[in-house]
Amino acid sequence: MTREQNQLRLLPSVDEALQSAGGQRLAARFSRALALRAVRASIAQARAAIQEGAPCPSLEELLTAAEKLLQEEQRPYLRELINATGVIINTNLGRAPLSREALLAVQRVSGGYSNLEYDLDAGARGSRHTHVAALLRELTGAEAAIVTNNNAAAVLLSLSALAAGAEVIISRGELVEIGGGFRVPDVMRQSGCFLVEVGTTNRTRIADYEAALSERTALLLSVHPSNFLITGFTESTPLPALAELAHRNGLLLMNDLGSGCLLASERYGLAHEPTPAESIAAGADIVCFSGDKLLGGPQAGIIIGREHAIRSLAKHPLMRALRIDKMTLAALEATLRHYQRGQAETHIPVWRMIAARPEQLAARAASWASHLQVRGIAASTQPGMSTVGGGSLPGETLPTTLLALSATVVPCSLEELARRLRTRRTPIVARILRDALLLDPRTVLEEQDEELVRALVETIK
Ligand SMILES: *Cc1c(COP(=O)(O)O)cnc(C)c1O
Repeated sequence: MTREQNQLRLLPSVDEALQSAGGQRLAARFSRALALRAVRASIAQARAAIQEGAPCPSLEELLTAAEKLLQEEQRPYLRELINATGVIINTNLGRAPLSREALLAVQRVSGGYSNLEYDLDAGARGSRHTHVAALLRELTGAEAAIVTNNNAAAVLLSLSALAAGAEVIISRGELVEIGGGFRVPDVMRQSGCFLVEVGTTNRTRIADYEAALSERTALLLSVHPSNFLITGFTESTPLPALAELAHRNGLLLMNDLGSGCLLASERYGLAHEPTPAESIAAGADIVCFSGDKLLGGPQAGIIIGREHAIRSLAKHPLMRALRIDKMTLAALEATLRHYQRGQAETHIPVWRMIAARPEQLAARAASWASHLQVRGIAASTQPGMSTVGGGSLPGETLPTTLLALSATVVPCSLEELARRLRTRRTPIVARILRDALLLDPRTVLEEQDEELVRALVETIK
């Protein structure tokens, strides 16, 4: 008998392993079915290793390997990570982190029952929309408000309820693709309205809209081209002129704002991002925007505007399909409360990141670098740029200080280092630019600093 055959004969059977005290413990912790699968895999691994010349592992080693497999398998698919990219709103990374208060609100409302659709005064059925409608009216000056699952849903619902079977006039410069396959013309078709394109990519005048009006027109649509810039020889029609034209002809003006910024972005060294209050003041009848872009809340679509128009949306059958859930609603209310109390800049993570002072960021990057240097890793810092991202404020950057790990100070390629950081228990996402891996403190939550440094030391050493 060969050595290999001998060693293979020493392997316990799946049953033996499962019946052992350690096997029973695994089954009690993870279920018999999962333990069985892991023990099988562990024995198969051992068999393959023996065929490669390894000795037969002990029963204890087999069970430890099985336990490791189970722990890995039980790791959540959807999990938290550290965003060191410096892109504040990144759809792939879950967009806006929620404030502590928003998280608590979700917990409070979701662990038990709530008055989601229950009017406590009347002791009768209520509406889920009332929980945020008053706050939205107060913050934007609109007559009425309603919320959906996301802004794509808000656009679909609004057009379906207000313009199905009729014509909607939109500028050719605003037939945008937002990303993830959300194309304005496709959504318009889906809603059953007929698209009437006017003007050109770079210039659309009020006269273009006027010439396109017909008996079949229901609505003028203005879409904020949030993720790109048209510069140079450009002209777009201001909202007040569109509102005047719409109202003079008995039509509605709808404005898809995309990001929906409730603060004055220019106060933070950014270009001015149009606000919902400005759209309402300009005469728009329906204004919609996202909950998880510059608003800094949960994924949601917010629709504000004229009472009669919002009432049509509330009654539309699609409303039921696109409605917001209680966890989102709780987080949205808590986020809006921050604005109401003037705490957005200090409490909402997205705005804390935008408002972070350059010297704070420089100090954090320097502190990361010195922790690494103490452990013999020649990290350095360098000036760089963060971006807002999420299809908001394209081309706008915020000055920051980056931690730089150049290719010469790490033991593997930069791509390999980035891969190792991404595949940790708490993944870290960084960017590679030319010959360095760069990490931006702006998008790393302060409570993640320690974990980040520890991860870098473990990964590089
Ligand atoms: C982001 C965006 C949308 C889609 O919003 P979601 O909340 O992602 O569904 C629609 N319109 C514009 C202009 C946008 O920027």
